[in-house]
Amino acid sequence: MNPYPREPSNRTTIAVATTEGYSSRPGGAQAELLAEVNKYESDRNLDLVLTEFRNYQQGILPAGPGARSLTEFFASVDEKLEPAAAPAPRTQRSDRDVLNLLTKRAKTLHIGPANFCWFTDPSRALCLKLAGTPTADRPLVGMCDSARCPQATHHPCHRLVRAEHAARTKTFLGDLGKTRKTEHARLQNDYDRAIRIVAEIDAATLHQPDEDSV
Ligand code: SF4
Repeated sequence: MNPYPREPSNRTTIAVATTEGYSSRPGGAQAELLAEVNKYESDRNLDLVLTEFRNYQQGILPAGPGARSLTEFFASVDEKLEPAAAPAPRTQRSDRDVLNLLTKRAKTLHIGPANFCWFTDPSRALCLKLAGTPTADRPLVGMCDSARCPQATHHPCHRLVRAEHAARTKTFLGDLGKTRKTEHARLQNDYDRAIRIVAEIDAATLHQPDEDSV
């Protein structure tokens, strides 16, 4: 089953559908449309964070440079849901309780083509550093280097696109003439990075609590 029910590609459809309703309204139409889109993005982000939190609870961890930070955040949420800290037994904790704890983090989430970006601190954003705009209030997802940015994570939903990229790059490498050394080195780096990310996602997905210690 697809754990990501609202894929980013739905966004265009929703934007187009809502535009039809607002175009004939006098005044405020654009603001209403923007509010709709923002609401959709908020709901989608919350769904994604909840999915990853549930994955975390089952031992499927995030990968990538920002994995530790996100894992620590999930651990802190999980701790707050412990029976000892809860007014009611854990089994009575609803998704609403969890969502309340995840909402703030969800607001920092931006969707990259093959990663999640947790834009919690502009000064740590690699894309902004590269662009020379370290105080911007949004990440430059088009310049994302998720293998190196401390705010990036990779998850099982990103595995396919990374694996396909690796396979395509390998084909290009095989077709490249031996004299094209610069191009070869660039593609080899690309390939190595994609393979490493896939391996990291697999390792984090296969992570399970040590059964012997239970
Ligand atoms: S480099 Fe990527 S992960 Fe890092 S802040 Fe920019 S868009 Fe987000």
